[in-house]
Amino acid sequence: MKIPFNKPYLTGKENDYFVQAVQSGHISGNGLFTKKCQQFLEQYCGVDKTLLTTSCTDALEMSALLLDIQPGDEVIMPSFTFVSSANAFLLRGAKIKFADSYPHHPNVDPAAIEILITPRTKVIVVVHYAGVACDMDAIMKISKNNQLAVVEDAAQAIASNYKNKPLGSIGDFGAYSFHETKNIISGEGGALLINNKKVGEQAEIIWEKGTNRAAFFRGELDKYEWKAVGSSFLPSELTASFLYAQLENIETIQHKRKAIWMRYFKAFEQLEITKKITRPIIPSYATNNGHLFYLVCNSKEQRTQLIDYLASKDILAVFHYLPLHKSQYFKEQYQGDELVHCTHFSECLVRLPLYYDLTNVEQEKIIGCVNEFYSINKTT
Ligand SMILES: *Cc1c(COP(=O)(O)O)cnc(C)c1O
Repeated sequence: MKIPFNKPYLTGKENDYFVQAVQSGHISGNGLFTKKCQQFLEQYCGVDKTLLTTSCTDALEMSALLLDIQPGDEVIMPSFTFVSSANAFLLRGAKIKFADSYPHHPNVDPAAIEILITPRTKVIVVVHYAGVACDMDAIMKISKNNQLAVVEDAAQAIASNYKNKPLGSIGDFGAYSFHETKNIISGEGGALLINNKKVGEQAEIIWEKGTNRAAFFRGELDKYEWKAVGSSFLPSELTASFLYAQLENIETIQHKRKAIWMRYFKAFEQLEITKKITRPIIPSYATNNGHLFYLVCNSKEQRTQLIDYLASKDILAVFHYLPLHKSQYFKEQYQGDELVHCTHFSECLVRLPLYYDLTNVEQEKIIGCVNEFYSINKTT
């Protein structure tokens, strides 16, 4: 029995809605299922406006366009993140400044953001790693004091809160991902959450190729035309119909994922007490959405050995981000400090299989194999 790292979960309603979308005769974007998904997310997250996108990457690109990022503008973000957080702003000519993680948590440290601010800084991008909130009060205070916009890369963070506020709904913009590796999926897919009433109309224009077609379709105009620089960011109704089946079942999905996460967390308490590994920390201001479960090993060597050991038992465990500032693409142009905490998580963090259909038996096997590894392995 091979245990994969991820397995996409289907609620069973996807086919029905997909067929409904096909038979409706409207399969391009911004149709009935798109509206249903957007309304759902607006209510669920308490935001003024949500636009479905074809990916979280697209939602981030939309935020860079909406913030009118110009060449030379500086954008601060963690180095411990996915490339899309950076690419979205690089495409507009921004200069990226990478900030370090906390010593004890992969999330960006607000103090590390503050030291990078210059008169050219325009935006702070935060990433809620593993669906666990960054310290948003501290971030919003920095943003206010320095008049900076805040974009939340909430790709992993649906159904998770910061002090009762849904992640993605706190900064100027929030970006969700519905990629097949996330909690709620549509193959590829995403959403832009807009917390500023004034930019809702502009967002719709950018979303629809730079035209006011959305307003035209609502009957507000007698023609539509080119209004701004935009692109085609909206998904087809085929994607939206699939997504709606998932959103309708969000409570069930979340309940199951959190239960699996909690079982891992409890099971590894002893390994943490004996200082073999550290478990994830959920700060008191944050909730956990069961997006991913990781352990932090004491060294890179040990992490590699653990991954190899689990692979030998047919269990696929994986590491995560390589620091963006050390990537092949960026390292030549990087001029900042060594980011030691980011490097530590990059080298020592390992993610265990976590998906809806992971059975108790499979999870017991994974837990057993990790414990077995540490009872054999004497290095620390
Ligand atoms: C998954 C992910 C993305 C990219 O999402 P897509 O929907 O695949 O574009 C961006 N940022 C983070 C932090 C992610 O985890």
